Amino acid sequence: MISPTQRVATVPPYVFSVLDRKVEALRSRGVRVMDLSKSDPDLPPPREVIQALQSAVEAAPSHLYPPFRGTKALRQAVAQRYRERHGVSLDPEREVFVLSGSKEGIAHLALAFLDPGDVALVPDPAYPTYRAATLLAGATPVLLPLEGARRFLPDLDAIPPDTWRRARLMYLNYPNNPTGAVADEPFLRRVVDLAREHQVTVLFDRAYGEIGLHGYVAPSFLAVPGAREVALEVWTFSKPFSMQGLRLGVLVGVADLVDRFAVVETNFMAGVYTPLQAAGVVALGPAGDWHVKALNERYAQRQRRVLGELARMGYHVLPPAATVYLWVPTVEGMTSQEMTDRLLEEAHVALSPGSGFGPAGEGYVRVSLTAADADIDAAMAAWADWMARHGHRVRPEVPAGV
Ligand SMILES: *Cc1c(COP(=O)(O)O)cnc(C)c1O
Repeated sequence: MISPTQRVATVPPYVFSVLDRKVEALRSRGVRVMDLSKSDPDLPPPREVIQALQSAVEAAPSHLYPPFRGTKALRQAVAQRYRERHGVSLDPEREVFVLSGSKEGIAHLALAFLDPGDVALVPDPAYPTYRAATLLAGATPVLLPLEGARRFLPDLDAIPPDTWRRARLMYLNYPNNPTGAVADEPFLRRVVDLAREHQVTVLFDRAYGEIGLHGYVAPSFLAVPGAREVALEVWTFSKPFSMQGLRLGVLVGVADLVDRFAVVETNFMAGVYTPLQAAGVVALGPAGDWHVKALNERYAQRQRRVLGELARMGYHVLPPAATVYLWVPTVEGMTSQEMTDRLLEEAHVALSPGSGFGPAGEGYVRVSLTAADADIDAAMAAWADWMARHGHRVRPEVPAGV
């Protein structure tokens, strides 16, 4: 057998692909699994978006190679949105790059901003692709622990000077997956100051930017004074418009930084299917706004319900202001992997183990609010029953959430 490259050997298997295999094994035995581990929404994309996709597929010629950086119409719609919602002015020609999903963009971006030996500052816990992309680029991830006591914001002043000196890229994601935390303005300003001082590029992942609950509106990092010089922002159509499987995202920022990314992306990718971009333009219009509103009302309601059930089990989790997640302490005497394995085996409830998002995720499990109401209710009942049946107690902890 040919051994894997060193690069591949450094990267752990993707947390969800491991979990999916376990869930599938149970389902193939006829077990009904209540899956609160993912962020696949139960609400489909807006009808108008699907109709726009269908009619664009029919319209000739839709089969040609798409423009590398995205269609003019979609780039203009993105620039207009940034101007209207965030007061950020972007040149649609050079400062907006359409992605085949933001995960793909995040992964490829590491190759444009990291050389072997460089350091990337990676939050912990975090979306696993930041760390994997860093390792696959031959660079070194330095983990920035996110702790409940600090509202899941990294302690920037704890980063040693030598690390700053070697750092070239910093990943940040607010509203945050998996903790549900949001970033305040003073923190974001501090990031800009330090990134400028140490000449570090910030990749700000705004995947949950539209998923504000209880009236919360998430800022764009590019709206922070000075951020445009040092930051790129990645944004996705997946989370706000339920377009997960359609694969559409954007990278925005100053032309110089986007151009560096474009060297990698135009060599790796041939652009995004043009009809899908037409659908994206519609998603950025009123149909998308209605959808986001309905989605967020639904998530806020579910959040209240789940928090209520958790409180009955003895958990005291504060309600996150954004995202579809709850970051919940494990039960006493179990790692997050043990707890999620046992909940799945013994109660048929699938949650994500916190340790799958990095070592600092140990001690937590992630609950997703995207499953159908009936599944959520059934899962919470089965979880409560599992706690009572086995006499499990909640690990005492600083309150999670923010
Ligand atoms: C879901 C998610 C993404 C990826 O979304 P795409 O579907 O690839 O656009 C990126 N970052 C975070 C933090 C996410 O949760």
